[in-house]
Amino acid sequence: EKPASRNFIEQIIDADLADNKNVEVHTRFPPEPNGYLHIGHAKSICLNFGLAQEYNGKFNLRFDDTNPAKEEQEYVDSILDDVRWLGANWEDRLFFASDYFDQLHDWAVELIKAGKAYVCDLTADQMRDYRGTLTEPGKNSPFRDRTVEENLELFAKMKAGEFADGTHTLRAKIDMAAPNINLRDPVMYRIKHAHHHRTGDTWCIYPSYDYTHGQSDSIEGITYSICTLEFENHRPLYDWFCESLAIHHPRQIEFARLNLTYTVMSKRKLLQLVNEGHVSGWDDPRMPTIRGLRRRGYTPEAIQAFCERIGVAKFNSTIDMAWLEDAIREDLNEKALRALAVLNPIKVILTNIEPGSSIDVEAPNHPQNPEAGMRKVPLMREILIEAEDFMEDAPKKFFRLRPGGEVRLRCAGIIRCDEVIKDDAGNVTELRCTFDPDHSRKVKGTIHWVSAERALSAEVRLYDHLCAVENPENVSEGQTFLDNLNPNSLQTITAFVEPSLNEAMPGTHIQFERLGYFFVDPVDSAPEKPVFNRTATLRDSWAK
Ligand code: ATP
Ligand code: MG
Ligand code: MG
Repeated sequence: EKPASRNFIEQIIDADLADNKNVEVHTRFPPEPNGYLHIGHAKSICLNFGLAQEYNGKFNLRFDDTNPAKEEQEYVDSILDDVRWLGANWEDRLFFASDYFDQLHDWAVELIKAGKAYVCDLTADQMRDYRGTLTEPGKNSPFRDRTVEENLELFAKMKAGEFADGTHTLRAKIDMAAPNINLRDPVMYRIKHAHHHRTGDTWCIYPSYDYTHGQSDSIEGITYSICTLEFENHRPLYDWFCESLAIHHPRQIEFARLNLTYTVMSKRKLLQLVNEGHVSGWDDPRMPTIRGLRRRGYTPEAIQAFCERIGVAKFNSTIDMAWLEDAIREDLNEKALRALAVLNPIKVILTNIEPGSSIDVEAPNHPQNPEAGMRKVPLMREILIEAEDFMEDAPKKFFRLRPGGEVRLRCAGIIRCDEVIKDDAGNVTELRCTFDPDHSRKVKGTIHWVSAERALSAEVRLYDHLCAVENPENVSEGQTFLDNLNPNSLQTITAFVEPSLNEAMPGTHIQFERLGYFFVDPVDSAPEKPVFNRTATLRDSWAK
């Protein structure tokens, strides 16, 4: 069932299918294995995989691994794992651009023979001078008119390793006066004596992105090559290669890349955060990487819903991080079981409960889902409540605890504050209250609590935005995005959690009632020593 409102890519596809221009929707996600995936990549994955599913088509995962220097197997492995986790299924269609090196080379020879490519001896700097500018046409390379024989011989020598890095390139012979600079004889091959993570030392010439991408799409039978807007003015070149080689010609469609407030998204900047120790690694829960989001407690369903909701745009914009947070709240509100925990405690003595005696309070594991069952939480003479839930000189609208006032303890009963104990400096150290197990009386506020004696102390990590400002890349002179990092993005505290969480399995989602969604850290938790990462706060805490 297709949704009623169609995004602009669906409209293009619908029109093509109606015109019999394409028979099948075949998309791909083409990461370069030079870093970990981030939420922007998730957008591209959900879009490409989603279209293939919607139209009963196919989806390929292809590593764009043409640059030997920056690529590593570690990144390949993590990308496979993250794409799978996100729920995009490439089935048996996993490909590597490096598997096409032979074919790409043969096609280069074909273009040389057709007079459409030549070996150039200009250095990178000279080539830049010859290229011209947006307002000035470029100049022809002095090597542009080499004969086919000469070009074939030189290209063979490039391939055979007879030249040093940077001394020669193979260039497409298009038009040095083209208004689109990408068409001014772009480089097809560079010499790089470097070890490739898959082809080893077989090659010392490597194809450029522009020369590789379209042809890889073509080889795989891709029909819609969906990429981000910065490739819009590479499209004429994409088309030129497919046409000049007379091969299957996929249709390139550009959409706006995802940008999010309060974070940075380029791999280079994320790498810098990791390398300079601003975060603990690629999986630091503050990172916008899939690894980071996973460890923060995000779910694939929340990320899919977010990508669906923000839609597909033709113009660049920045999406408010709150959209992403809303998506995870919505998902976890259904999935996460509830528990009681106190982050910033103050002691309360329930004076009418005997020391040592314990009342088993029945608490629902999920208030909206009776099937989740009930659990017992021990209520004893000494409990802890949140310090913010008591106020000595409380304003009228403060519906929590005040001297002489009453408040409901979640699932347990009602307490009345009879006495406030202070230290010499005047700080409140303890409240003395009377406990009334009768639930039926009407009392406005409800607060959470744990038994002081039975609660576990646990490490809790309170995460906030990675960056302190909405657009961290917007900096004044002499500053970088690093100056906009949020110094309070991580606060580690010891909190007190109900005893049932002793057995909380790493990788489970829990809502601490009134506080937020937490994830049992899969890396640092130990048996009987869970560590909790705050995934998100609650939008509004109930009964405040
Ligand atoms: P970055 O620019 O963040 O360093 P990249 O674009 O170089 O990443 P690739 O591995 O080349 O990373 O990207 C793989 C695919 O993901 C490409 O099709 C690219 O267009 C897409 N993609 C990358 N970043 C975003 C984003 N922020 N929003 C949407 N799609 C993206
Ligand atoms: Mg790239
Ligand atoms: Mg990039």
